[in-house]
Amino acid sequence: MNIHEYQAKELLKRYHIPVPEYIVIRHLDELKDVDLEEAVVKIQVHAGGRGKAGGVKFAKSPQEIKDITRRLLGMKMCNNQTGPQGVVANSVILSKPVDIHKEYYLGAIIDRAKKQMILIASTEGGMDIEEVAEKHPEKILTLPISAPGKLRMYQIVAFNKFMGFKGDVAKQATKLVQNLVKAFYELDASILEINPLVLTPGHQLIALDAKFGIDDNALFRHPLIAEMRDPSQYSKAENAAFENDLSYVSLEGNIGCMVNGAGLAMATMDIIQHEGGKPANFLDVGGSATKERIAFGFEMILSDPQVKGILVNIFGGIVSCKMIAEGIIHVVKEHKIKIPIVVRLEGTHVKEGEQLLEDSGLEIIAAVDLLDAAKKIVAQVQEVI
Ligand code: GDP
Ligand code: MN
Repeated sequence: MNIHEYQAKELLKRYHIPVPEYIVIRHLDELKDVDLEEAVVKIQVHAGGRGKAGGVKFAKSPQEIKDITRRLLGMKMCNNQTGPQGVVANSVILSKPVDIHKEYYLGAIIDRAKKQMILIASTEGGMDIEEVAEKHPEKILTLPISAPGKLRMYQIVAFNKFMGFKGDVAKQATKLVQNLVKAFYELDASILEINPLVLTPGHQLIALDAKFGIDDNALFRHPLIAEMRDPSQYSKAENAAFENDLSYVSLEGNIGCMVNGAGLAMATMDIIQHEGGKPANFLDVGGSATKERIAFGFEMILSDPQVKGILVNIFGGIVSCKMIAEGIIHVVKEHKIKIPIVVRLEGTHVKEGEQLLEDSGLEIIAAVDLLDAAKKIVAQVQEVI
């Protein structure tokens, strides 16, 4: 789950990381309480690159603060991070502009390949870090973070040297980076990024921007962060999935996938792609798929107008394929689904399940295995479009 910049800054504040004071504006009438002479106005959306997209503006007078806020509230931003549908800014933040001497990058992520938390630091802040990594890898320092969320002293020394921090700035940087790593670890973050971290002409380090992503599976441990979820930043289907405890991610293809188990769902998407098709979504209905969850999964898949065919791939380890078949038959009848559906069942009561589908008289295409299923749905969808 992602949160907004101002929410991420609230978390940073709790960890004593200096951030500029900000005022959150959701309605224009809230501007009457603002007494700033100048301000940076920033849209609050779950995507970076706002500066380039026109979502970060400098207002030089109270009148400009009003004009710019009016323009930015409700702005729809589209870039490579938002997808073609874009995201709408339902709030903006106002901050007193900070004078910048130099911009840096500081972040922590989980490196899945290395199975480790990693600190990333760069002297090139304010820019796209992926671009820096590609063009100037020597300007990026990565340090592994040991399990309890602490850096070793020698790592901190290396960090300060790499960043060119000396004297009092190095002292500030040491505290800041220790707190960042602590926050990252304690809050079960999947990403915590300060870009830019700035040094002011008065030699203060300040986090000017903040991005925070948390592992959904850890949300139960952080109820206050869970409350920060802003449904306006997600699609209707993603919200419905969240409320019903399903994992759903919408994608750009046209083959709807309903699968139980995240690993199986990924394998299903891979094999569809391998056969020349494009999955419309990732959907894990969970290990304990019930009739209700199957019905709900279908509804979500069908809410995407791009979907031209559905592949159901269920492994009945705990669940019975018979029950899944009944669920499918019920939904197909109830929704009068006209698009092709390929079903691959395996596991407990598979014979009974397949028999039910066959006897239903519905046009459900049975597949013997995953590859067969992928081939069949890709062929069906190609015929339709
Ligand atoms: P992003 O484009 O979504 O990453 O938004 P940021 O909050 O990082 O803002 C983009 C850029 O605007 C930053 O990299 C800074 O260069 C600039 N910026 C943002 N706030 C301030 C500020 O208070 N003072 C100055 N001088 N520049 C700022
Ligand atoms: Mn930024």
